Amino acid sequence: MARYIASPFPPASPKRGETAFLRRLSAVLLMALILTVMPFESRPSGPDVSFSSDTLVRGDLILLRVRGEASDNIQVVWMEKEIPLVHNSNGCLWHGFLAADLNQKPGVYPVAVRVPSRGLERYFKLRVNDRDYGVRKIRLPRAKVELDEASLQRVKKEAQTVNSLWDADCRPPEWKGSFRIPVDNKIVGPFGQKSIINKKKRSPHTGVDIRGKTGSLVRAANSGTVVLVADHFFTGKSVYMDHGGCIFNMYFHLDSIQVEEGDFIEKGQILGRVGATGRATGPHLHWGVRVNGARVNPLTLIELSRELDP
Ligand SMILES: [Zn+2]
Repeated sequence: MARYIASPFPPASPKRGETAFLRRLSAVLLMALILTVMPFESRPSGPDVSFSSDTLVRGDLILLRVRGEASDNIQVVWMEKEIPLVHNSNGCLWHGFLAADLNQKPGVYPVAVRVPSRGLERYFKLRVNDRDYGVRKIRLPRAKVELDEASLQRVKKEAQTVNSLWDADCRPPEWKGSFRIPVDNKIVGPFGQKSIINKKKRSPHTGVDIRGKTGSLVRAANSGTVVLVADHFFTGKSVYMDHGGCIFNMYFHLDSIQVEEGDFIEKGQILGRVGATGRATGPHLHWGVRVNGARVNPLTLIELSRELDP
């Protein structure tokens, strides 16, 4: 039980004029305090916008929310690109992802949010920080690392095929709700690590490696369209899915593939089976994600997209 100790001093009783003055003074001070502490985001001068975080690291994502009706035409610009948004009819919210590529230079980047139909616009600044993702050391057969002329030509051609996917225009979103892990198993190769292959520096790890036996089922992380099925030098048997809204998922080193280019795939539908094709140290699934062209951690996409489940 709380105990109250009576003050040994009687309360000071100010005169009438003094009381009124003190009230006015405290009201003014309170208002000044509210205006100082109130975050810029909550002032009612523009669209109602919030972010899952006010900073991110390279290779990371944040979720943006804008309050608005389905009929509102909301424009968000980040890193000089228009960000696709999806509408959640229950909450009257628009959602979108702001992504920073794994190689994004640390710094402060502006976000513009506009609702032209209501003449509203607001600007924000988000900081992208550096992160030390650590290092992985791999040993591979020499022919898979120091490429002969024919392999070099092959790799170059394959890179062109893949890069043409990123150059295409954003399609309307086909993904819905949360993304799921394609193989329900442990992460054995984290995102972002620098790679030292046969004692030489190579490109960083742009996805996550998920443990799996040869033949384990690989399921689509979300609904979307298969845009490329290939058997490439580095990535082996590969499936590229375009989920619309500028979100792509990649599934590498598959043993077999069960889908074809142009197929519309529902979330959880089987794409193929885990394998060790291409340049792999053993059977596993390499899962990569691109959001608005940026290579980001797939696990962050899972985490943030949970908010979009009904
Ligand atoms: Zn990998």
